[in-house]
Amino acid sequence: MSQKFDVVVVGAGPGGYVAAIRAAQLGLKTACIEKYQGKEGKTALGGTCLNVGCIPSKALLDSSYKYHEAHEGFKVHGINAGEVTIDVPAMVGRKDQIVKNLTGGVAALFKANGVTLLEGHGKLLSNKRVEVTGKDGNSEVVEAENIILASGSRPVDIPPAPVDQKVIVDSTGALDFQTVPKRLGVIGAGVIGLELGSVWARLGSEVTVLEALDKFLPAADEQVAKEAFKVLTKQGLTIRLGARVTGSEVNGDQVTVSYTDAEGEQKIEFDRLIVAVGRRPVTTDLLAADSGVDSDERGFIFVDDYCATSVPGVYAIGDVVRGAMLAHKASEEGVMVAERIAGHKAQMNYDLIPSVIYTHPEIAWVGKSEQVLKAEGVEVNVGTFPFAASGRAMAANDTTGFVKVIADAKSDRVLGVHVIGPSAAELVQQGAIGMEFGTSAEDLGMMVFSHPTLSEALHEAALAVSGHAIHVANRKKR
Ligand code: FAD
Ligand code: AMP
Repeated sequence: MSQKFDVVVVGAGPGGYVAAIRAAQLGLKTACIEKYQGKEGKTALGGTCLNVGCIPSKALLDSSYKYHEAHEGFKVHGINAGEVTIDVPAMVGRKDQIVKNLTGGVAALFKANGVTLLEGHGKLLSNKRVEVTGKDGNSEVVEAENIILASGSRPVDIPPAPVDQKVIVDSTGALDFQTVPKRLGVIGAGVIGLELGSVWARLGSEVTVLEALDKFLPAADEQVAKEAFKVLTKQGLTIRLGARVTGSEVNGDQVTVSYTDAEGEQKIEFDRLIVAVGRRPVTTDLLAADSGVDSDERGFIFVDDYCATSVPGVYAIGDVVRGAMLAHKASEEGVMVAERIAGHKAQMNYDLIPSVIYTHPEIAWVGKSEQVLKAEGVEVNVGTFPFAASGRAMAANDTTGFVKVIADAKSDRVLGVHVIGPSAAELVQQGAIGMEFGTSAEDLGMMVFSHPTLSEALHEAALAVSGHAIHVANRKKR
């Protein structure tokens, strides 16, 4: 007799584990299948995000920022720390410990909520059955009323730079360097390339980022992208736009990378090369030929707005389906699907998914950029406020960047909040809360913000939409 569940989830990343916990909370008999083996050779939950993504990258970003501050930022506060040195294995070890705590935490949450963990590879068969194949090669078939596919994504490989995880690494390898590479190349100026490039640049690498596109951060508001380019370049990152990598040759501990740019063929040598050219969905051996579930030519599983596939009772969420490849998007889809299975009318607002790049200063936004709104013919009013005018930012010696609030010219409804600056991610989240409730710039301007906080920059930018900012000269006077 095969085991029967109300819900079986394939994959325990932020999409799958959240879906499984929510389903169990709703009284559904739930199992989650996970195959990933962590560094200790045991099943590790949490997916890309906890094991080799969001969390370990932020651990190294925070450690490297502290080192950088101790080197460059203390003196201005009158602090002399003497000689500051770095122990890379200890830094990476701290990161590994955080990963271990968090992945163990998910296992504990499964226990607490009564989610059954099935260790192994899951494959969707026909008639709501899933085959689970363990490490030992033994298989069992489980049955479920509902199945949620949450198999996530993996780094894109490009033929000109094959990853060997020694000299040429992907994002996973770049989280485990044991020494600081002298010359570090990064292919791709996306979120992951900029974050990992920043980690190693702060620790002393000479970092060169090669980006095929001519435009820097095309998804960001142009004003923010321009400032980001200026700031990151000033921090020592060499960012070559319009530079398409065409080949690489590894010689011992070095790699020579060939690329083409406006001037023609170029070559550059590095000690390590990070390939960060995007991620693609994981559907390897996930769908039996007669499962009835389809994916597009890139492997994304087709779903509707509620993450339902074309097979009744089978859903797919997170990086394996359309939309932003972000942990919080995956998790919210997991909650939505679990609740819909339980009969609730849950839905998700795909227009308000915040984006964050955890460089320093952080870059974050929610809603639409000024250029997109203008292209759509929407008339807007814009308010900006520089952190250079924020008392709290001055106190912290962290005054780079600004907050930009974009509002509909007719209704004053906030359509976008864009920030480059300290704690940008947290400030943008405040904008997202307001936008979810249809806030106007005037509403934000009428609220009382604690003083002194970085959040006041959001308050002032909202006031600046109508020319009423207090602590900066307004572009527009009313
Ligand atoms: P995943 O997290 O990829 O999880 C899928 C899980 O399914 C994996 O554990 C996998 O082993 C398992 N699996 C796959 N196939 C099977 C199968 N057939 N059977 C059993 N198990 C299977 N996002 C953010 O929002 N913020 C960030 O700061 C951020 N930083 C990132 C930094 C890096 C370096 C990287 C690489 C990614 C980052 N991301 C970030 C993206 C984020 O990690 C993903 O969007 C998120 O993990 C997607 O969640 P998911 O549940 O869809 O898939
Ligand atoms: P993202 O998808 O945000 O992770 O960003 C990946 C980036 O890598 C994109 O901006 C791509 O333009 C860039 N990219 C992809 N292939 C190449 C290549 N061969 N050389 C340089 N950049 C590339």
